[in-house]
Amino acid sequence: MISNRQLFLSHIGQTSPDPLLLEIVKANGVEMFDSNGKSYIDLISGISVSNVGHCHPKVVEAVQTQAATYMHLMVYGELIQSPQVMLAEKLTGLLPKSLNSCYLVNSGSEAIEGAMKLAKKATGRPEIVAFNNAYHGSTQGALSIIGSEYFRNSFRPLLPAVRHLNFNRMEELQQITEDTACVVTEIVRGEAGAELPLPGYLKALEERCRETGALLVADEIQSGFKRTGPLMAFMEEGFTPDILVLAKGMGGGMPIGAFIADKKLMDELTGNPVLGHITTFGGHPVSCAAALAAFGIVETIPKHEIERKSELFRSKLVHQKIVSVSGKGLMLAVEFSTENFCKKVIAQCIEKGVFTDWFLFAPHKLRIAPPLIIEDEQIVKACEVILDSIENVQD
Ligand code: PMP
Repeated sequence: MISNRQLFLSHIGQTSPDPLLLEIVKANGVEMFDSNGKSYIDLISGISVSNVGHCHPKVVEAVQTQAATYMHLMVYGELIQSPQVMLAEKLTGLLPKSLNSCYLVNSGSEAIEGAMKLAKKATGRPEIVAFNNAYHGSTQGALSIIGSEYFRNSFRPLLPAVRHLNFNRMEELQQITEDTACVVTEIVRGEAGAELPLPGYLKALEERCRETGALLVADEIQSGFKRTGPLMAFMEEGFTPDILVLAKGMGGGMPIGAFIADKKLMDELTGNPVLGHITTFGGHPVSCAAALAAFGIVETIPKHEIERKSELFRSKLVHQKIVSVSGKGLMLAVEFSTENFCKKVIAQCIEKGVFTDWFLFAPHKLRIAPPLIIEDEQIVKACEVILDSIENVQD
């Protein structure tokens, strides 16, 4: 019989020459189980997705109930669907007043596309500013603004009029001008290796946007939903974005994304042309029901618990080969001196039942972004495995 591994390699479009090739057959809470019955502590949550853990019973129940009630009815935006409106009401109720209208889509990339289109339409300006070493998605618009020539280069022509700045460099903010439709930035920067904004930097960015009339777009696709402690990472940075972009952890494991803005701004997408952003499956009712359930769980996790768990990781991850541990909350990065060493440590961790990886633009850093419900014993065990792996790897 042909194995699933052979079928995967033959019939599933491949993203790299060396996929991990683990066959996961079940996942529950913080653990995943492979086809040999081996268990793994999930230290990455499918990249910041499973914030409430895998197969949370409340999310599973919400999915089952909604799937048995109705699934797809009509393209997004025509029919009143209670999972959508309940989700939007709940979400906007906990955000600043100006973030009161949700445009629901399918993914992070699509939400970024929608945010950029909205900013261009509302301002009538051509330029988009983004940052080097930022990841915003893989569709051509999102790809145009990601901060890596390596990833962009083979797919030109991309969007014109994109300017990339270096993050945390105050002096470069002057390059945001009256031609700028929007500035797109992460708050805690995921693929740059859990990089934090310097104190006051994002506030200064906001001020420059206000001075020039550029809209500020916060990509909280990785950092949202308490990943860094607060509900959204921007909430501790002293500013409110014009457009907030969410996905990943939003759906509790189901696909969904959103861009959120003030209704007056969002209304730009309703006319001239009508249907300014069309999405068939955007805000799928089953995904919305899952998101509402996931949100209810995330809401009950106190910020101080996330901070305490973050500290527990930091207190255990002390070793002369660890250069630094960066990040915030449960969005952490363990830095080694080389990419080669980091990748060997990661391979050992997986071998020993701790599932982790590196960052796209910081391959010398190991990712720690477990489900927020991880327990202390699991943190201690995962750290022991990381330290043990470091000991076993030759430079
Ligand atoms: N922005 C950020 C910060 C992300 O981390 C990602 C996904 N890694 C995206 C956008 C794109 O999301 P998606 O893969 O759902 O399109």
